[in-house]
This record gives sequence, C-alpha cells and structure tokens, in this order.
Amino acid sequence: MSLLSLWEQETYYTRNDVTIIGGGLMGLWTAIELKLQAPSLSVTILERHSTPLGASTRNAGFACFGSLTELLFDESKMGTDEMLRIVAMRYKGIQKIKAFLSEEAIALDPCGGYEPLKNYAGAELLNSQIHYLNGLLKPITGTGQSFINATDRLGYIGLKNFDQLVYNPLEAGIHSGKLVNGLTALALSKGVKILNGVTVTEFKETGNGIELLTNQSVLLKTGKLVVCTNGFTSALLPRLNIEPARGQIILTAPIAGLKTRGTFHFDEGFYYWRNIGNQILLGGARNSDFVQERTTSLEGSDAIRNILKDFLHRHLDTDQPIEIVQSWSGIMGFTPDKHPLCQAVSDNAVAAIACNGMGVALTPVIAETVTKMIL
Ligand SMILES: Cc1cc2nc3c(=O)[nH]c(=O)nc-3n(C[C@H](O)[C@H](O)[C@H](O)COP(=O)(O)OP(=O)(O)OC[C@H]3O[C@@H](n4cnc5c(N)ncnc54)[C@H](O)[C@@H]3O)c2cc1C
Repeated sequence: MSLLSLWEQETYYTRNDVTIIGGGLMGLWTAIELKLQAPSLSVTILERHSTPLGASTRNAGFACFGSLTELLFDESKMGTDEMLRIVAMRYKGIQKIKAFLSEEAIALDPCGGYEPLKNYAGAELLNSQIHYLNGLLKPITGTGQSFINATDRLGYIGLKNFDQLVYNPLEAGIHSGKLVNGLTALALSKGVKILNGVTVTEFKETGNGIELLTNQSVLLKTGKLVVCTNGFTSALLPRLNIEPARGQIILTAPIAGLKTRGTFHFDEGFYYWRNIGNQILLGGARNSDFVQERTTSLEGSDAIRNILKDFLHRHLDTDQPIEIVQSWSGIMGFTPDKHPLCQAVSDNAVAAIACNGMGVALTPVIAETVTKMIL
C-alpha cells in the first residue's frame, strides 16, 4: 500500500508522460526540447540531490568543440567522417546555447581558446595540420580560420615552457552554474516539474509504461523514461558499460598582473585551464592515474592536486606566489569508444549518456535526438 497522501499522489507523484532521471545538462536540455516539440506532455525530472551533482555544475565551463590535437587524435580513432559529425554536433550545440540564453545570463566570455604545444612537431607539419583541419571544418564553422598558428604570441600570454601555440577564435568560456540555473528556470517556465531528493533505484516495464522505484519507497509511474545519469549510470544500467571518470580542478588566488586570458587545452585535452578574472582554474591530469580516477567519489586526491600544482609552477610565467584557494571534482561518464550514447534500453526507456568531456556543447543537440526517439 502506498504511504503517500492522496494530495501528494495527485500532484507531485502523478503519472507522467515522460520522466527524466538526472537534472544535469542532459536531463534539462531533454526536458526543454520535449516541451518545445510537444508542449502538452507532462515532463518530470527526478534529481537525487538538492542541486544537480555530477559534471554539469563542476566542470570547467569551456564552450568548445575540440582542440587541434584532440581532433587529430579522434580522427585517427574513429575516422574523418565520424570525427566531423561529432564536431558539427558540438558546434551546433554552442550556437543553440547562445540562442536560448543571453550572453549575460551565462556570463559568456568570447575569449577564444588556445592550445600550447610542447615537443610536438616542426612548424611545417603544424601548419599543414592546421590547414588540413581548417579545410575540413569550414563547412561546419563557416570560416577557413578555425585554427591559427599563434606561436608568435607565446611570449605575451603569461605561459612558459611551451614551444608552439594554436589559437581557436571560436571558443568561449561560460559560467557553468549560471548555465544550469538558466536552463532550470527555462524548463520550469515551460511547465517541467523538477523533484529533488529523489533517487531512482530501479525501473521496470509494466506493459503499459514504466514503474520507477525510488529511495523514498515511492513507486512512480511514467509512460516513457529518459535516463540521464551520466557517470552514475552503472547503478541503474550496468550493461551499458559507462565508465565513471573523475575530473579534478584547482583554483588559484588572484595573481597580480596575470597575462593569461582565455581557455587553454594541453595534451589532447588532458589538461585544461582558463582565467576567471585574475585567478586561474586548472583541471585534468586524469591520465596520470586512470585507474584511481575511474570512480564516482567526489573527494579528489592530493596526488592529482599536486600534479596540477606542479603544472602551474612549470607553465605559468609569473613572479607572484601561486596560492591554491579552492579545489573540487566532478564525475564524467565515458563510453568505451568515446561516442556519446543515445539508445533505447527497453520498450519505453532511452538512455542519453556519456558526452564524455564535452557535454556543454553536445547535450543541447543530443536532446533533439532523444526527443525524436521519445515522440
Ligand atoms: C571536471 C570536469 C570538467 C569538465 N569540463 C568541461 C568543459 O569545459 N566543457 C564541456 O563541454 N564539458 C566539460 N565537462 C563535461 C560536462 O560537464 C558533461 O559532459 C556534462 O555536464 C554531462 O551532463 P549530464 O547531465 O549528462 O551529467 P551530470 O551533470 O553528471 O548529471 C547527472 C545527474 O544525474 C543525477 N543522478 C544520478 N543517478 C541518479 C539516480 N539514480 N536518481 C536520480 N538522479 C540521479 C546526478 O545527481 C546528476 O545530477 C567536464 C566535466 C568535468 C567532471
């Protein structure tokens, strides 16, 4: 017998047309897209924490579509067409964010992105790679200058111990908390219901939709289900093989005279940093211990924090002390082949997971595919 009151049952916990598990970027964009395409649908997001807690509010806030070395690496793994298909999705996603939320609302900083290189290649090879990718990317970005050899700027951007520099004028920084906040407000304004503090522990098909079991022993009913639990998915759907991957971040105190401005990627994206005013936010180094970082624990580790600190001392060109004032972690979800996953997992359930390290740009577009599958 249900322990709910009649009133709760007929308001918060009524049967939904669509229920979404997970209130991060993927869940929010999916809810918004569903309401855009079918405004009369009842859509509820179930989020287990008081605020979304995984990757979306803990990331670095790069609105990016891939650095030069990342794209060349992806191409070598997945082929040219697939690499370009994913870049096109990311690029479209960034445009969609700007169309839905004002630059002010998400504190968009059109700073451009840089990729410093060390022991990489001769100038001739780098120029030919830039030329090659610019040609491939032109139909997507509309410019033949997605990447520019900016090695001559190396002495002016407050970095040291790098050999070459590639600039991407199309990249931007955003405020990740404001993005999630803005999308939450948008979803609510379209009539999406959000229930926080509800952990889904199990779901099953009933022949007439889906029943969800929750931590509150409440049984919820829905016509369709979208699972957007990212790095935490294996608790609900172990067979999808989504690997959690912890990303750790450190933040410096303000550094007087800081010259480093923009978003930065290094080592195929395993290190990333940006300025927040006169502070530097630096994340990454997961590749120094993949096994330990394959975790859903948000605690972080001194080992990685120390590697990040060393990286700053090695590469930040400043005579000021570098003091770390804050550190945090987030959890990503990775598929074995690095492709985002959007697939039916039962008759009425779809999983939309694993935007890997670039969900800011990808989630708005994957939400469109999910919506088509649901409708
Ligand atoms: C450190 C770090 C830096 C990053 N930097 C960038 C970047 O600069 N640019 C970029 O594009 N991407 C970046 N990413 C990746 C990006 O943040 C993610 O791809 C994106 O946020 C994924 O969104 P999501 O909604 O799928 O997952 P999440 O934001 O993790 O949301 C999943 C939600 O599901 C909830 N949940 C899980 N299980 C249950 C359950 N059983 N019941 C109810 N709720 C549940 C969780 O509480 C969580 O809120 C970064 C990620 C990290 C960790």
